[in-house]
Amino acid sequence: MYADVIIDITHEKLDKIFQYRVPKELEGTLETGMEVVVPFGKGDHERHGYIVGFSDTCDCEESRIKDVKGPAEGSVAIESRLVQLASWMKEHYGGTMIQALRTVLPVKRQEREKEQRNLQLLLPREAAEKQRDTYLRKSQKARARLLSALLETADGVLPWEQVSREQKVPLSVARALEAQGVAELVSSQVYRNPVGEKEKEETPIVLTGEQEAALRTFREDYRQGKRGTYLLWGVTGSGKTEVYMAMIQEAVARGRQAIVLIPEIALTYQTVRRFQNRFGNRVSIMNSRLSAGERYDQMMRAKRGELDVMIGPRSALFTPFPALGLIVIDEEHETAYKSGQVPRYHARETAEHRAALEGASLVLGSATPSLEAFSRCREGQYRLLALQNRIDGRTLPRVETVDMRRELKEGNRSIFSRSLREQMEESLAKGEQVMLFLNRRGYAGFLSCRSCGYVVKCPHCDVSLSLHRDGKMRCHYCGYETAKPKQCPSCGSPHIGGFRAGTQQIEELVRREFPEAGVLRMDMDTTRNKGGHEKILAAFARGEAQILVGTQMIVKGHDFPGVTLVGILAADMSLYADDYRAAERTFQLLTQAAGRAGRGRKEGRVVIQTYTPDHYSIRAAAAQDYLAFYREEMEYRELMGYPPAAHLLAVLAASRDEALLEKGMYYLKQIALRIAKKNGLQVIGPATPAVGKVRDTYRKVLYLKQEDYACLTEAKNRMEEYIELNRGYQDIWIQFDFDPVTGL
Ligand code: ADP
Ligand code: ZN
Ligand code: ZN
Repeated sequence: MYADVIIDITHEKLDKIFQYRVPKELEGTLETGMEVVVPFGKGDHERHGYIVGFSDTCDCEESRIKDVKGPAEGSVAIESRLVQLASWMKEHYGGTMIQALRTVLPVKRQEREKEQRNLQLLLPREAAEKQRDTYLRKSQKARARLLSALLETADGVLPWEQVSREQKVPLSVARALEAQGVAELVSSQVYRNPVGEKEKEETPIVLTGEQEAALRTFREDYRQGKRGTYLLWGVTGSGKTEVYMAMIQEAVARGRQAIVLIPEIALTYQTVRRFQNRFGNRVSIMNSRLSAGERYDQMMRAKRGELDVMIGPRSALFTPFPALGLIVIDEEHETAYKSGQVPRYHARETAEHRAALEGASLVLGSATPSLEAFSRCREGQYRLLALQNRIDGRTLPRVETVDMRRELKEGNRSIFSRSLREQMEESLAKGEQVMLFLNRRGYAGFLSCRSCGYVVKCPHCDVSLSLHRDGKMRCHYCGYETAKPKQCPSCGSPHIGGFRAGTQQIEELVRREFPEAGVLRMDMDTTRNKGGHEKILAAFARGEAQILVGTQMIVKGHDFPGVTLVGILAADMSLYADDYRAAERTFQLLTQAAGRAGRGRKEGRVVIQTYTPDHYSIRAAAAQDYLAFYREEMEYRELMGYPPAAHLLAVLAASRDEALLEKGMYYLKQIALRIAKKNGLQVIGPATPAVGKVRDTYRKVLYLKQEDYACLTEAKNRMEEYIELNRGYQDIWIQFDFDPVTGL
């Protein structure tokens, strides 16, 4: 018998399978996914590697094959289905097998088990009482105290550490009881529990008709053994989480487990509480803020089937459950679901694949679904479940769009439009709360006209050009460049420039203009410390301030019933990120921000300030009309060949040697062009990304576009082979990014 082993070194050249003989004494003890020690290389140095399979025959001369030395001590084995998933990820996203294996194994080392000692009574009650009297007679007071304490319990068991402290008895007393066969110290493993013990609190909730209908569709499929992917498209506040929980209950009732992905660790606490109320102590979390011991214990609880639900960010997708039945991805449109490290996987597609491997279903939820998810519903690949109303018949907020060009023309140069200022005064006078959202996402030095709203764009790619320090405007997709205009090319106005107001300036302005209101600010600076996030949100929830100023952090999933007004400043900012997803991100942000208003009894109002009120993403967000947005955006993607209409592969490269980098990219482009001849692959660039040089390292990016994903993986494979064979690439860092979701 032979084992196929992947050596644990990140190096392109070693990314292949090496065969080792399984010696007689190890037969039956090795399994796929296990970490083993093997001799490797010239000096037969000991190396670690993972077993990815077994075979009965060997591919080379028997005499050259070496023996597996044994399992690596203290290692954690990868479930064989996760090994399969890793190999799919390697093929689908690029990188080495070892990088893929490390990704699906979030906990690599065994941790010491935490133990608890219990003192357990061995004698029947009557006999024990007699024994206690004996101790008292003999004046053995400590023994008598300990035995009395045991007799006071219902089941004759006490945690040792606690009783020893409370009764002031040393270990020698317990040992004496043991020696006389009266009681016994029993050690058992206790799990480190990052979420605390919490019993179920079954407050029966009656699902609304819409929620019930969504659940019914899922349940009928599930009971018939049909598995698939569902998109739960529900407006903000429509009760998606209740539906997820009912679906999970369905899977749990059939002995299966569920993974719930959330976009941000900051949302963990509130989500966990809701799930614990429903599923009690069979819920846990997995994320990078846990200690190594806590992570190890949560993984073991999951592996042993002692949990039903695991909640966490992207990486929790790899929780090793014995019978995974359902994966839920909440806010599936969030960019946090795409990994920034090799393999640059997307949790949505990877979850779909894992679900298929394990016979599980996948449920995606969002108020503003990604174009990927929604278009797959249209094609019949996913099933659409819709929730169109807020719970309790609460209405969606009233939205007003203010044209800031007009404000300027009429003499108002302030950050606040007249309408927003008036409505703020009104809300504050009534003692209500206001959120001011400064849209700074994707800010990348675009140039716009404050008089007419014109933005300088690339004539070939339809994304905005970025201003570089040398005064040139550049396209980060194709490399097009032009000089910075001094006047607006559209209306001739000299008011052309970048938008520079930050949250801090807005906070100061608000303090000056509304001195009575009390202001809190939430951005990167104020949330840097651990728990900073929660502290600000809690203070605002308690009403310590009437105004909260913040970046996109304030728009996600928080429920403040006191907020009746949301002001969105510079709604267009995210529109000009030099990124083909800019309009989608803008629509999502505006819709989510608007959704923060009026979550309580009173009606909410939203003011969107913009220089481009006619842009479809802003119009659709103001009308809260997802379908209108989807249609326009999909047309644009189809016209330009951007995902999901086609697939896009970014080949990212960096080197300290600029000439070498250019040469390296030139040859990769030739490989792509050769493939392009066969099947119409489109090759764009290489271009300089937004940041062209970081700490003396130059960066370039090459784009490949094709409708057929397999064609892009073929191009990736050819390039990987070429890179492996040519020494020149040793000093170039290269990564592949399929269907990138963030600007570069
Ligand atoms: P979403 O995730 O769609 O924004 P949530 O699931 O957070 O919505 O639900 C919003 C609020 O409505 C929560 O406070 C939730 O407890 C409540 N809720 C959800 N469904 C129901 C229901 N069927 N009956 C009463 N309250 C509900
Ligand atoms: Zn202009
Ligand atoms: Zn371009």
